[in-house]
Amino acid sequence: MTLAVRPNSTAARDVRSQLHPYTNPVAHEAQGPQIITRGDGVWVEDEDGKRYIEGLAGLWCTALGFSAEDRLARAAYDQMKALPFYHPFGHKAHVPGITLAERLLDMAPVPMSKVFFCSSGSEANDTALKLIRFYNNALGRPEKKKVISRVKAYHGVTLATASLTGLPFNHRDFDLPIPGVLHTTCPHHYRFAAPDETEEDFATRCADDLEAMIQAEGPDTIAAFFAEPVMGAGGVIVPPPTYFEKIQAVLRRHDILFVADEVICGFGRTGNPWGCQTFGLEPDMITVAKQMSSGYMPISALLLNEKIYAAVRDNAGRIGMLGHGYTYGGHPVSCAVALEALAIYAERDLFTHAATVGPHLQARLRTLADHPLVGEVRGVGLIAGVEIARDKANRQPFDPSQGAGLALGRFLHKHGVITRVIGETMAFSPPLIISMAEIDTMVDRVASALDDTL
Ligand code: PLP
Repeated sequence: MTLAVRPNSTAARDVRSQLHPYTNPVAHEAQGPQIITRGDGVWVEDEDGKRYIEGLAGLWCTALGFSAEDRLARAAYDQMKALPFYHPFGHKAHVPGITLAERLLDMAPVPMSKVFFCSSGSEANDTALKLIRFYNNALGRPEKKKVISRVKAYHGVTLATASLTGLPFNHRDFDLPIPGVLHTTCPHHYRFAAPDETEEDFATRCADDLEAMIQAEGPDTIAAFFAEPVMGAGGVIVPPPTYFEKIQAVLRRHDILFVADEVICGFGRTGNPWGCQTFGLEPDMITVAKQMSSGYMPISALLLNEKIYAAVRDNAGRIGMLGHGYTYGGHPVSCAVALEALAIYAERDLFTHAATVGPHLQARLRTLADHPLVGEVRGVGLIAGVEIARDKANRQPFDPSQGAGLALGRFLHKHGVITRVIGETMAFSPPLIISMAEIDTMVDRVASALDDTL
């Protein structure tokens, strides 16, 4: 991390040229970027030659870590040589797109009929929102259009998906959320349960809150509910065990579609191939991205079931076409790389590996629970959150932009760990290839950073 920007340095060029996402630009001008230059395994190196264990797999992406995977490089090269660009608009198709769509339908946790490719998680969720409108218009229910997500949800940053996202930074001064997007109770027991409320009672209350919101708005106006199996960017929030069972009963009662956002949880993150399997979800649509290509090429997808496809098919047939599509959606090079990544996951039995080492990550992080700065440790599989408390007894969170929060970030850097402190929570989502020994190294370093912060 360059703490003062030297004139004519690479950092100075960055400060002059780039507007950074999710970054305070005022602080950035003063401190400059940390420039990452290379990686291997679960490690990355910055331009000063310092090595860091990458505790978040980039942005929950690089299942295979940061080594040059020859097979993925080769898949990209071969596809570029054969056909560097094509698209599926207007009856065209390419083989890697067809094969990847088949592969996703084969793998899907519940029966799905069709795959629509995009390039980012936001685009996949935006497509879901548009098809939900299209579906209800096709069924002659023009009033059934509102969508519900949850406080602290993360579903993307386009106007519509940032509206679904339930985080203040994504709304404030962007004039969001757009009308017709509602946020129901976040299923975070530690933060939102009443004193002495059991997880079971809290799950019932979350479902009751959803029911009350639907009744207040009118069930005939509510089209869909969006949820991540584990809420990631909202602070790694694992719902109580019976939460989704109760929520799904409410949705079924009111004929409300369920969209599972598997952008983080998909492909082995929660100890099963899909978060839907870990939590018993039966969605009508699934969105995927990130680990689908180990993050090596941008690609995402929306999977839709037969009920939705049939209505979309008939309506688009009547209109003359489905008026939606992205130039780069299902780019052949991205599809080829994703197919190779999925082949490597299968050959190396990577999801089983993640399910084997996941409990070790959870157990090791829970040894931090008694630390005076730690409020709660939570997680499942290879995704975890360590919530930092300013006042542990009263569950008072700290402000990560001040005091202990800033210090913790500095000490994580000193001890060679990259994670993101999201809200009041340190998030962990290491590459799925991580070993038990590397988990030990990471947690030991986090413990040292916490001790330094005291
Ligand atoms: N959905 C979830 C659960 C995510 O975590 C993210 C990004 O982190 C998105 C959607 C948006 O994906 P993208 O940043 O590729 O648009």
